Amino acid sequence: MRSVGATGRRSELSALGIGAVGLDESTESIPVDKRMRAADGVWAIGDVTGAGGFTHVSRYQARIAAADILGAGSEVAQYRAVPQVTFADPEVGAVGMTEARARAAGLSVRTGCTEVPASVRGWIHKVGNAGFIELIEDADRGVLVGACSVGPQGGEVLGALAVAVHAEVPTAVLRQIILAYPAFHRAIESALESLASG
Ligand SMILES: Cc1cc2nc3c(=O)[nH]c(=O)nc-3n(C[C@H](O)[C@H](O)[C@H](O)COP(=O)(O)OP(=O)(O)OC[C@H]3O[C@@H](n4cnc5c(N)ncnc54)[C@H](O)[C@@H]3O)c2cc1C
Repeated sequence: MRSVGATGRRSELSALGIGAVGLDESTESIPVDKRMRAADGVWAIGDVTGAGGFTHVSRYQARIAAADILGAGSEVAQYRAVPQVTFADPEVGAVGMTEARARAAGLSVRTGCTEVPASVRGWIHKVGNAGFIELIEDADRGVLVGACSVGPQGGEVLGALAVAVHAEVPTAVLRQIILAYPAFHRAIESALESLASG
Protein backbone atom coordinates (compact mmCIF):
# COMPACT_ATOMS: atom_id res chain seq x y z
CA MET A 1 0.00 0.00 0.00
CA ARG A 2 1.42 3.32 -1.02
CA SER A 3 0.35 6.43 0.86
CA VAL A 4 -0.55 9.48 -1.18
CA GLY A 5 -1.11 11.78 1.76
CA ALA A 6 -4.32 12.93 3.43
CA THR A 7 -6.30 12.74 0.20
CA GLY A 8 -6.19 8.96 -0.10
CA ARG A 9 -4.18 5.80 -0.61
CA ARG A 10 -3.79 3.38 -3.44
CA SER A 11 -2.16 0.04 -4.01
CA GLU A 12 1.01 -0.19 -6.06
CA LEU A 13 0.51 -3.53 -7.75
CA SER A 14 3.69 -3.46 -9.80
CA ALA A 15 5.74 -3.35 -6.59
CA LEU A 16 4.09 -6.59 -5.51
CA GLY A 17 5.28 -8.37 -8.63
CA ILE A 18 1.90 -9.88 -9.35
CA GLY A 19 2.77 -10.05 -13.04
CA ALA A 20 4.89 -13.09 -12.15
CA VAL A 21 1.69 -15.03 -11.46
CA GLY A 22 -0.03 -13.76 -14.58
CA LEU A 23 -2.00 -10.90 -13.05
CA ASP A 24 -2.33 -7.45 -14.59
CA GLU A 25 -0.11 -4.96 -12.78
CA SER A 26 -1.50 -1.93 -14.61
CA THR A 27 -4.88 -1.94 -12.87
CA GLU A 28 -5.73 -0.15 -9.62
CA SER A 29 -6.80 -3.32 -7.86
CA ILE A 30 -6.71 -7.09 -8.24
CA PRO A 31 -10.06 -8.45 -9.45
CA VAL A 32 -11.18 -11.39 -7.29
CA ASP A 33 -14.24 -13.58 -7.28
CA LYS A 34 -16.47 -14.02 -4.23
CA ARG A 35 -13.98 -16.47 -2.72
CA MET A 36 -11.05 -14.12 -3.27
CA ARG A 37 -9.65 -16.15 -6.15
CA ALA A 38 -7.56 -13.95 -8.42
CA ALA A 39 -6.25 -16.73 -10.65
CA ASP A 40 -5.75 -20.47 -10.56
CA GLY A 41 -4.03 -21.09 -7.23
CA VAL A 42 -3.83 -17.37 -6.40
CA TRP A 43 -5.95 -15.55 -3.83
CA ALA A 44 -5.92 -11.85 -2.96
CA ILE A 45 -7.38 -10.11 0.06
CA GLY A 46 -7.35 -6.63 1.55
CA ASP A 47 -6.86 -3.18 0.14
CA VAL A 48 -5.41 -4.59 -3.10
CA THR A 49 -8.83 -5.98 -4.00
CA GLY A 50 -10.39 -2.50 -3.97
CA ALA A 51 -13.35 -3.75 -1.94
CA GLY A 52 -12.94 -1.11 0.77
CA GLY A 53 -9.83 0.11 2.55
CA PHE A 54 -10.68 -1.16 6.01
CA THR A 55 -9.04 -3.62 8.38
CA HIS A 56 -12.38 -5.39 8.93
CA VAL A 57 -12.79 -5.93 5.18
CA SER A 58 -9.30 -7.44 4.99
CA ARG A 59 -10.02 -9.76 7.90
CA TYR A 60 -13.39 -10.75 6.44
CA GLN A 61 -11.84 -11.58 3.09
CA ALA A 62 -8.95 -13.42 4.77
CA ARG A 63 -11.38 -15.75 6.54
CA ILE A 64 -13.17 -16.57 3.31
CA ALA A 65 -9.94 -17.06 1.38
CA ALA A 66 -8.41 -19.28 4.07
CA ALA A 67 -11.52 -21.47 4.13
CA ASP A 68 -11.47 -21.73 0.34
CA ILE A 69 -7.77 -22.60 0.27
CA LEU A 70 -8.40 -25.34 2.84
CA GLY A 71 -11.48 -26.50 0.95
CA ALA A 72 -13.37 -26.02 4.20
CA GLY A 73 -15.95 -23.38 3.44
CA SER A 74 -18.73 -22.38 1.15
CA GLU A 75 -19.04 -18.77 2.34
CA VAL A 76 -18.93 -16.16 -0.38
CA ALA A 77 -18.17 -12.49 0.12
CA GLN A 78 -21.06 -10.05 0.39
CA TYR A 79 -20.45 -6.34 0.67
CA ARG A 80 -23.95 -4.97 1.21
CA ALA A 81 -23.25 -4.12 4.85
CA VAL A 82 -19.66 -2.92 5.03
CA PRO A 83 -19.43 -0.58 8.01
CA GLN A 84 -17.12 2.38 8.21
CA VAL A 85 -16.43 4.57 11.20
CA THR A 86 -14.42 7.75 11.40
CA PHE A 87 -13.21 7.99 14.98
CA ALA A 88 -13.57 11.74 15.22
CA ASP A 89 -15.54 13.68 17.82
CA PRO A 90 -18.37 13.05 17.20
CA GLU A 91 -17.90 9.56 15.77
CA VAL A 92 -19.23 9.23 12.24
CA GLY A 93 -20.43 5.80 11.19
CA ALA A 94 -22.10 4.51 8.07
CA VAL A 95 -23.11 1.12 6.73
CA GLY A 96 -24.51 -0.07 3.44
CA MET A 97 -25.86 2.31 0.83
CA THR A 98 -26.14 6.05 1.01
CA GLU A 99 -29.50 7.51 0.02
CA ALA A 100 -28.00 8.65 -3.30
CA ARG A 101 -26.65 5.18 -4.08
CA ALA A 102 -29.95 3.54 -3.16
CA ARG A 103 -31.84 5.90 -5.48
CA ALA A 104 -29.27 5.39 -8.24
CA ALA A 105 -29.82 1.63 -7.86
CA GLY A 106 -33.50 2.23 -8.64
CA LEU A 107 -34.78 1.33 -5.19
CA SER A 108 -37.99 2.75 -3.80
CA VAL A 109 -36.29 4.72 -1.06
CA ARG A 110 -37.70 5.93 2.25
CA THR A 111 -35.49 7.72 4.74
CA GLY A 112 -35.86 8.43 8.41
CA CYS A 113 -33.79 10.61 10.68
CA THR A 114 -33.65 11.52 14.34
CA GLU A 115 -31.41 13.94 16.22
CA VAL A 116 -29.35 12.57 19.11
CA PRO A 117 -30.04 15.63 21.36
CA ALA A 118 -33.76 14.85 21.07
CA SER A 119 -33.20 11.41 22.62
CA VAL A 120 -33.21 10.79 26.38
CA ARG A 121 -29.52 9.84 26.39
CA GLY A 122 -28.69 12.86 24.27
CA TRP A 123 -30.45 15.05 26.83
CA ILE A 124 -28.54 13.37 29.69
CA HIS A 125 -25.26 13.77 27.80
CA LYS A 126 -25.76 17.53 27.42
CA VAL A 127 -22.64 19.24 25.96
CA GLY A 128 -21.22 17.33 23.00
CA ASN A 129 -24.46 15.52 22.24
CA ALA A 130 -24.68 16.66 18.61
CA GLY A 131 -25.46 13.90 16.17
CA PHE A 132 -28.14 12.03 14.30
CA ILE A 133 -29.22 8.61 13.11
CA GLU A 134 -30.34 8.31 9.52
CA LEU A 135 -31.98 5.22 8.02
CA ILE A 136 -32.34 4.32 4.36
CA GLU A 137 -35.07 1.80 3.63
CA ASP A 138 -35.93 -0.13 0.51
CA ALA A 139 -39.64 0.52 0.92
CA ASP A 140 -40.64 -2.24 -1.49
CA ARG A 141 -38.92 -4.92 0.58
CA GLY A 142 -39.32 -3.17 3.95
CA VAL A 143 -35.65 -3.58 4.90
CA LEU A 144 -32.86 -1.16 5.68
CA VAL A 145 -30.22 -0.94 2.95
CA GLY A 146 -28.15 1.72 4.66
CA ALA A 147 -27.75 3.76 7.79
CA CYS A 148 -25.67 6.51 9.26
CA SER A 149 -24.90 7.14 12.91
CA VAL A 150 -23.19 10.33 14.03
CA GLY A 151 -22.68 11.37 17.62
CA PRO A 152 -21.22 10.21 20.93
CA GLN A 153 -20.54 6.45 20.55
CA GLY A 154 -21.80 6.74 16.97
CA GLY A 155 -19.59 3.79 15.95
CA GLU A 156 -21.10 1.59 18.66
CA VAL A 157 -24.65 2.52 17.69
CA LEU A 158 -23.74 1.57 14.14
CA GLY A 159 -23.29 -2.06 15.27
CA ALA A 160 -27.03 -2.59 15.64
CA LEU A 161 -27.66 -0.95 12.28
CA ALA A 162 -25.01 -3.14 10.60
CA VAL A 163 -26.82 -6.24 11.88
CA ALA A 164 -30.10 -4.90 10.48
CA VAL A 165 -28.62 -4.16 7.05
CA HIS A 166 -26.58 -7.38 6.82
CA ALA A 167 -29.36 -9.68 7.97
CA GLU A 168 -32.04 -7.71 6.09
CA VAL A 169 -34.17 -7.60 9.21
CA PRO A 170 -37.61 -6.29 8.22
CA THR A 171 -38.21 -2.79 9.60
CA ALA A 172 -41.51 -4.12 10.94
CA VAL A 173 -39.45 -6.50 13.12
CA LEU A 174 -36.96 -3.79 14.10
CA ARG A 175 -39.85 -1.73 15.47
CA GLN A 176 -40.68 -4.60 17.85
CA ILE A 177 -37.21 -4.82 19.41
CA ILE A 178 -36.80 -3.74 23.05
CA LEU A 179 -33.93 -1.26 23.19
CA ALA A 180 -32.25 -0.56 26.54
CA TYR A 181 -33.13 2.70 28.27
CA PRO A 182 -31.38 5.12 28.13
CA ALA A 183 -28.71 3.84 25.72
CA PHE A 184 -27.74 5.96 22.73
CA HIS A 185 -28.97 3.20 20.42
CA ARG A 186 -32.54 3.73 21.67
CA ALA A 187 -32.71 6.63 19.22
CA ILE A 188 -32.97 3.99 16.46
CA GLU A 189 -36.61 3.63 17.58
CA SER A 190 -37.31 7.30 16.81
CA ALA A 191 -35.51 7.03 13.48
CA LEU A 192 -37.74 4.07 12.60
CA GLU A 193 -40.82 6.06 13.59
CA SER A 194 -39.80 8.91 11.31
CA LEU A 195 -39.32 6.33 8.55
CA ALA A 196 -42.89 5.25 8.95
CA SER A 197 -44.14 8.80 8.60
CA GLY A 198 -41.58 9.89 6.00
C1 LIG B 1 -3.58 6.25 8.99
C2 LIG B 1 -4.52 5.10 8.72
C3 LIG B 1 -5.56 4.87 9.61
C4 LIG B 1 -6.45 3.81 9.38
N1 LIG B 1 -7.46 3.60 10.26
C5 LIG B 1 -8.30 2.58 10.05
C6 LIG B 1 -9.35 2.30 10.98
O1 LIG B 1 -9.55 2.99 11.98
N2 LIG B 1 -10.17 1.24 10.73
C7 LIG B 1 -10.00 0.46 9.65
O2 LIG B 1 -10.78 -0.49 9.48
N3 LIG B 1 -9.01 0.68 8.76
C8 LIG B 1 -8.15 1.71 8.93
N4 LIG B 1 -7.15 1.96 8.03
C9 LIG B 1 -7.06 1.09 6.84
C10 LIG B 1 -6.39 -0.23 7.21
O3 LIG B 1 -5.13 0.03 7.80
C11 LIG B 1 -6.22 -1.04 5.95
O4 LIG B 1 -7.46 -1.16 5.28
C12 LIG B 1 -5.71 -2.44 6.28
O5 LIG B 1 -4.50 -2.38 6.97
C13 LIG B 1 -5.55 -3.23 5.00
O6 LIG B 1 -4.99 -4.47 5.28
P1 LIG B 1 -4.13 -5.19 4.18
O7 LIG B 1 -3.75 -6.50 4.75
O8 LIG B 1 -4.85 -5.14 2.87
O9 LIG B 1 -2.85 -4.26 3.96
P2 LIG B 1 -1.75 -3.80 4.99
O10 LIG B 1 -2.25 -3.79 6.38
O11 LIG B 1 -1.21 -2.52 4.41
O12 LIG B 1 -0.67 -4.97 4.91
C14 LIG B 1 0.10 -5.13 3.77
C15 LIG B 1 1.42 -5.71 4.22
O13 LIG B 1 2.17 -6.09 3.07
C16 LIG B 1 3.49 -5.61 3.19
N5 LIG B 1 4.01 -5.42 1.83
C17 LIG B 1 3.73 -4.44 0.96
N6 LIG B 1 4.41 -4.60 -0.17
C18 LIG B 1 5.13 -5.72 -0.03
C19 LIG B 1 6.04 -6.41 -0.87
N7 LIG B 1 6.33 -6.00 -2.11
N8 LIG B 1 6.60 -7.53 -0.39
C20 LIG B 1 6.33 -7.97 0.85
N9 LIG B 1 5.48 -7.38 1.69
C21 LIG B 1 4.89 -6.25 1.24
C22 LIG B 1 3.36 -4.32 3.98
O14 LIG B 1 4.59 -4.00 4.60
C23 LIG B 1 2.28 -4.68 4.98
O15 LIG B 1 2.80 -5.31 6.11
C24 LIG B 1 -6.27 3.00 8.24
C25 LIG B 1 -5.21 3.23 7.35
C26 LIG B 1 -4.37 4.28 7.59
C27 LIG B 1 -3.24 4.53 6.62
